[in-house]
Amino acid sequence: MNRRALLLVSLTALAAIPASVWTQGAQYPVEVIKPGKSAYTFPPGYQTPWDRIQIMVTAKMSPNLFVLHGSEGLDPAHPDASGGRVMALFGPDGVLLVDTENRQVAEKTLQAIRSFTNGPIKVVVNTHIHGDHTGANAFFAGQGAVIFSQENLRAEMVRPPPRANGEPAPAPDMAGVPVGTYTYNAAAPGQPAVTFNMNGETVDFIPMMPSHTAGDTIVRFRKANVIYIEDFYRNFGYPFADQGNGGSIKGMLDAVDLIEKLAGPDTTLVPGHGTLVKKQDLLPYRAMLVDILAKVKTLRDQGKSLKDVLASNLTAPYDKTTLGDTQQSKDRFITEVYDEVKDFPPIADGKRSMPSRR
Ligand SMILES: [Zn+2]
Repeated sequence: MNRRALLLVSLTALAAIPASVWTQGAQYPVEVIKPGKSAYTFPPGYQTPWDRIQIMVTAKMSPNLFVLHGSEGLDPAHPDASGGRVMALFGPDGVLLVDTENRQVAEKTLQAIRSFTNGPIKVVVNTHIHGDHTGANAFFAGQGAVIFSQENLRAEMVRPPPRANGEPAPAPDMAGVPVGTYTYNAAAPGQPAVTFNMNGETVDFIPMMPSHTAGDTIVRFRKANVIYIEDFYRNFGYPFADQGNGGSIKGMLDAVDLIEKLAGPDTTLVPGHGTLVKKQDLLPYRAMLVDILAKVKTLRDQGKSLKDVLASNLTAPYDKTTLGDTQQSKDRFITEVYDEVKDFPPIADGKRSMPSRR
């Protein structure tokens, strides 16, 4: 529909036009490819076929702020769209990247960036340590980028916590370790630690309270009215706080509450996975966290074992509205809450000494 024709449409007819029609015009965001919504299954022993995964521009948040994400149905950790979202701000001042995707798709991520800019990759900010967000750090540092993150993320990377089975983590690739660091100031939540003025945009790196990990950062693009909110919120699978790296389910509540303050009603929130949302979409998630925390605490206070609590199927009321509600995802969530409501270890050097579980 052209502009002239559009003007002729009556207001009542306008209200009936689905939102998807509007995204075809100059309005942002434009979602090019949405994440998948199937119930994905993978055979035992399945290995991610990295050679088949494509990295594509899946959304445009402004004329020079694009979102990259991987293919659907191939990565069992993220079957709706492989890996973690990357955001790329580009223009005459060079490229600023939010996160770097999995190491195995580093070249493809760069190729996807090269489909819209030849500018030098100057700045990377890591929202949290996980490999789907930092895996290609060393590759992009090799392209000339300076990497920023919370000091805790650097600590998690340089001195990693033991794995969940108690075994020591492998040594880090020092070429991918962030060099520009800052800390979360509990006295001023939401205050940017770093601000970049690049390519007509103002970009704030806002360190978060321990939530998905103890080293989280959200990234605000003021002009585009967009915040990359990484993984303390998710709408594919149940919540995941990486407690070994200092994360906390209760901290995720605080993170949601901070977004309530930082975002306007129309601010587009870009989670690391799942669909793009607005802040009102975070409220049912918050309510679920509160509900599950209270129910698990009651059961644990009654002396129930983890096995008993898992068997109570507390997530049942949410299964219908939670995409990717696998048993593994539910059990991980409930186990975390169980660990958190009693004798939860403190954070030291960006990490917690969680009990190992085999
Ligand atoms: Zn992620």
